Amino acid sequence: MVVGGGHNGLVSAAYLARAGLSVLVLERLDHTGGAAVSAAAFPGLPTRLSRYSYLVSVMPEQLMADLQLDVTLSSRRTASYTPTLRGGVPGGLMVERNERDATRQSFRDLTGSDTEYDAWREFYADVAEMARVVAPTLLQPLPNERELRDLVDPGTWRDVVTRPLGEAVERRFADDTVRGVVATDALIGTFASLDDPSLVQNRCFLYHLIGNGTGEWRVPVGGMGAVTGALHRAAVDAGATIVTGAGVSAVRADAGSDGGEVTWTSADGASHTVAGRFVLANVAPWVLRILLGEPEDPATKPEGSQLKINFLLDRLPRLRSGVDPATAFSGTLHLGEDYTQLEAAYADAAAGRVPTVMPGEVYCHSLTDPSILGDVPPGTHTLTYFGLHTPASLFDADPEGAKRVAVERAIASLDQHLEEPLMSCVARDGNGDLCLEAKIPQDVERDLAMPGGHIFHGDLDWPWSPARARLDTPAQQWGVHTDHDAVLLCGSGSRRGGAVSGLGGHHAAHAVLASI
Ligand SMILES: Cc1cc2nc3c(=O)[nH]c(=O)nc-3n(C[C@H](O)[C@H](O)[C@H](O)COP(=O)(O)OP(=O)(O)OC[C@H]3O[C@@H](n4cnc5c(N)ncnc54)[C@H](O)[C@@H]3O)c2cc1C
Repeated sequence: MVVGGGHNGLVSAAYLARAGLSVLVLERLDHTGGAAVSAAAFPGLPTRLSRYSYLVSVMPEQLMADLQLDVTLSSRRTASYTPTLRGGVPGGLMVERNERDATRQSFRDLTGSDTEYDAWREFYADVAEMARVVAPTLLQPLPNERELRDLVDPGTWRDVVTRPLGEAVERRFADDTVRGVVATDALIGTFASLDDPSLVQNRCFLYHLIGNGTGEWRVPVGGMGAVTGALHRAAVDAGATIVTGAGVSAVRADAGSDGGEVTWTSADGASHTVAGRFVLANVAPWVLRILLGEPEDPATKPEGSQLKINFLLDRLPRLRSGVDPATAFSGTLHLGEDYTQLEAAYADAAAGRVPTVMPGEVYCHSLTDPSILGDVPPGTHTLTYFGLHTPASLFDADPEGAKRVAVERAIASLDQHLEEPLMSCVARDGNGDLCLEAKIPQDVERDLAMPGGHIFHGDLDWPWSPARARLDTPAQQWGVHTDHDAVLLCGSGSRRGGAVSGLGGHHAAHAVLASI
């Protein structure tokens, strides 16, 4: 029994059903996919945006091949563009996906020499070497920390794993903008200073750089719903039963000698209880504890910290730097993400204030994949904003008021680099309303039952087992165990489950198969 039909629940179901097991997936919403879905967010318009998650990197190609997923992931032509206003003069840092002379020239124009670009090349070569060591382990039982450490350059291990990432960024780079571009990967959905001694920012950084050994973030053609749709089909074709509109209210781990029991309510209000050998929890570990009968514990509740805004535009805005919008917006366009701005925004938010300068990034899906637009006037484009350092607590007292301020500041962070205000380019929906949909952590929690709106169900763990971890059972070996033998984690909150990766689902399925 799989509690939750997010993409990870579907991955578990597909692997287990293909292995001949009888699988029941229970999803509370009227559709599967969780945070990996497409939606027609604007009434009267056909465009289907990736409503929450939008890019794919961490999902192994091997997993996609195992499940014969008919999904295309397209490369973006630009890796990133960071508009700048130095001394009031518009400029920018352009990083091509395949870095060539234009990237070197852009670093030179911004920083005055080749030093920063050489440091950039060296840093990412070091990280890529580490990615090539870690990535192949992701579809295997957890490697031991010691095994991996011995395979990685000691300096890289120190920079990425043992010392706060800010130290390496400050030592290796001098330019504030370059430092910030490097650092943002550590802060996606992760509320931390770059010097945080918990190293949660380092773990976030590592996951953003290891996907398939390259760390490239690609565009799912057809939107995120295409990924989930393919997984749904893979599970059903293999024989899994998927019930939507099925909210699980309780999980019992002690139902009989070996097995679990799940109580759920169907769309017609009827209550059902089913028993089975294993319960796989696609819900967050914090939610699972409540389903298992423990009291809600506010002290351990995860807290999300992102602002997601989906726009539909009549046209892409022109940039003051003169760069072609189709180049600048096709990659990750960084806003307010200089290193000092990131740290200032963290300090603001930690003191309970919406950051004065909102750090965030925008990207245009439809430049790489126009198929999601549908029949719309020429020039129409999607724009996705993902903001950092907006913890849920900022919105508790006045959700709508604080959200309005955060959205205004997000738009202002882009407007200062534009020839024409962003809002003058925003399309109108069938009701005449502006096509802008904003989601704070509270919205994500309400929509998706991700506790605190935390995009990874909780802070990320290292993708290996600590030197002295107990690895007696298959569930422990795969990093999906709970306190109950019959109940396994199969979602983002399992040890290596964060992001649209399918890893949580894959690992739980393999732990089950190794147990029977
Ligand atoms: C705004 C946003 C942007 C993101 N951007 C990216 C990105 O670009 N790339 C990336 O890789 N990752 C991104 N992420 C993170 C990524 O989407 C998640 O880590 C991933 O989707 C989690 O998948 P999952 O299947 O483990 O869980 P979920 O997607 O959370 O699915 C869990 C499912 O369980 C269901 N459920 C919950 N409670 C119950 C219950 N009681 N009974 C029955 N069903 C229940 C939910 O409805 C949901 O369908 C983003 C997340 C968010 C929110």
